[in-house]
Amino acid sequence: PTGVDPVLEVDDVKVHFGGVKAVDGISMKLMPGMIHGIIGPNGSGKSTLIGAMTRLTRLTSGRLLFDGEEYQNASAAVVARKRVARTFQTVRLLPDLTVLENIQLGADARADDKSGNVLTRLLGKQISPAVRDAVSRTNLEGFEDFYPSELSYGTQRRVEIARAIATGPRLLLLDEPTAGMNQKERAEISALLQSLRTDGLCQLLVEHDVQMMIDTCDHVYAMNFGRLIAEGTPTDVVRSPQVQEAYLGR
Ligand code: ADP
Ligand code: MG
Repeated sequence: PTGVDPVLEVDDVKVHFGGVKAVDGISMKLMPGMIHGIIGPNGSGKSTLIGAMTRLTRLTSGRLLFDGEEYQNASAAVVARKRVARTFQTVRLLPDLTVLENIQLGADARADDKSGNVLTRLLGKQISPAVRDAVSRTNLEGFEDFYPSELSYGTQRRVEIARAIATGPRLLLLDEPTAGMNQKERAEISALLQSLRTDGLCQLLVEHDVQMMIDTCDHVYAMNFGRLIAEGTPTDVVRSPQVQEAYLGR
């Protein structure tokens, strides 16, 4: 709707690695309360774009604006304090910490949480409300004291999402969160992401599964060779000739 400002604006962003134009002039406006999707063949620059948005990857050129404020030269730590959270394409949980401790690490990253670090709180057996909330939203009750290696892949993914939610994000970037999941697990993640819309959370989901994309996303961007080739509703994008050609070589 008009009058609503984007949470994140990406303005003509390029990320080149030598001669490889991984991201080559992308512009987007990511809106509050909406789930945005990115589809694209392997190597089309999706993860690099997310890396640029979180400032883990250096931009070659272009601008990034969070709440209208440029941050393309800010550090990754400053970006995290803006309450931008992400999950990675491969699960990155700390293997020697329990589910609850892993999620608590997310809550500890909150700028507004002054109740101490993970160790002091765990020694005092205090679990912050943000952690409780993240556990319940991701249906992880009963798994709190498990270690990541004891969990199925789908459950590990939910722990990662819980950790990201526990940071209290305004923008959540999810890089292929359902890779390696079965249909039932995908549907659970889809329902979870949709339930987060109500808080005005802005989400960006990199997803390969077309059905998951259609079920979950409000607005989809299609990438190929570092560029946008289509944008719009999920069904329109999937049906667009450019996307058909990129995937099927037609
Ligand atoms: P996607 O996530 O869409 O599969 P990536 O963003 O991972 O694509 O990669 C886009 C392109 O950039 C690929 O050609 C990849 O090999 C290249 N690339 C990614 N990261 C680097 C890097 N650190 N150095 C050099 N090339 C990279
Ligand atoms: Mg990727």
